[in-house]
Amino acid sequence: MRSFSYVSAPDVPAALAAVAGSPGAKFLGGGTNLVDLMRQDIERPTTVVDITRLPLTGVEELPDHTLRIGALARNSQVAAHPLLRTRYPVLAQAILNGASAQLRNMATIGGNLVQRTRCLYFYDRAAACNKREPGAGCAAVGGFTRNHAILGVSEHCLAAHPSDLCVALAALDATIEVESTRGVRRIPVEEFHRLPGGTPQVETALAPDELITAVELPPLAAASRYRKVRDRASYAFALVSVAAALRVDGDRIGEVRLALGGVATKPWRAREAERVLLGAPATAESFARAADAELAAAATTPENAFKVGLARRTIVATLSRLAEESA
Ligand code: SF4
Repeated sequence: MRSFSYVSAPDVPAALAAVAGSPGAKFLGGGTNLVDLMRQDIERPTTVVDITRLPLTGVEELPDHTLRIGALARNSQVAAHPLLRTRYPVLAQAILNGASAQLRNMATIGGNLVQRTRCLYFYDRAAACNKREPGAGCAAVGGFTRNHAILGVSEHCLAAHPSDLCVALAALDATIEVESTRGVRRIPVEEFHRLPGGTPQVETALAPDELITAVELPPLAAASRYRKVRDRASYAFALVSVAAALRVDGDRIGEVRLALGGVATKPWRAREAERVLLGAPATAESFARAADAELAAAATTPENAFKVGLARRTIVATLSRLAEESA
C-alpha cells in the first residue's frame, strides 16, 4: 500500500474543492472496488476524499414522475425500495443479481457506474494491459478470453464491462447528474460509458474532478425484467445478461428497451434489435431475428464465441417471458 492523504468531506462543495485542489485525488464511497484496486497497487490516489457523509442517499419521486436516486444510496437500499420494485423491477433484479448481500450493503449507485473491469490481466501486474498502463499492449489478445467482450471491442482492449446495474440503467434511459466546481451537468447513460477504441484507460465521460451526485430514471410504462447467465448461481460476473422492457399493444410490440451485459465493453443498448422489434409481432421468431441483427457485429475469439448463441437464447427467453406477462 502506498501512502496517501485522507480528507473527510462534510458537504458537496468541500468534496469538490478537495478534489479540484489535488490532482490524483479519488472519491471514496462504499470502497468496494477502489480499496481492492489500491491494495493491488492498480489505483494509486494521492488523496482519498471520503464522501460517505454527504447527503446524497435519498430516493425520491419528482413532480414529473422521474425517479431520482442519490449517488450514495446503497445498492441494497435501492433494490428494496417499493418504487423501484414496483415500477422498475429490471433495476431491482439487476442489483440483486449483482453481488453478495455484504457488497450490496456497502456499494453505492454512483460507485457502480465507475467500477472497473474484472479482466484478469488488468489485475495481474506482470501482464501487459493498455487499460492499466496505456501503450503497454493487451495480454488478452491471444490470451485467455472466455469472459471477454464480443461487442464494442478494439485491438487495444476487449474487456467486458462488469456491471449488472448499469445494464439496467442503459435500458431505462437513465441520466447521470455530475457536479464539479464548474457547475452541474447531466449525461445520458449511453454517453457516460465509453468504448475502448485506442484509449481503453478512459472509461467514462466523467472528468477527474467531477462527482456523480444522482441518477434519474424517466417513467416506464412497460413490463421489465433482468436475466443473468453465469458460471455459478451467485458471486459471479455475467457471461451474458439481458435487461429488457416490453409493452405489447394487441399482438404488436408498442415499446421495447433492450440492453446487454457480459458481452460488451460497455453496458450495451441493443439499438439494432430494438429497431427490428418495434411494431413487429411479439413472437419468438421476431425476438430471434432481433437478436441476430444485434449480434451480427460480434467479434469473437475461439474461447468466447459461445456468447453469441448464449446471448441470442437469453434475449429470446427474456423477451418471450415479458410478452407472456404482457398478454
Ligand atoms: Fe487490459 Fe483490456 Fe487487454 Fe484486459 S482486455 S488486458 S483490461 S487492455
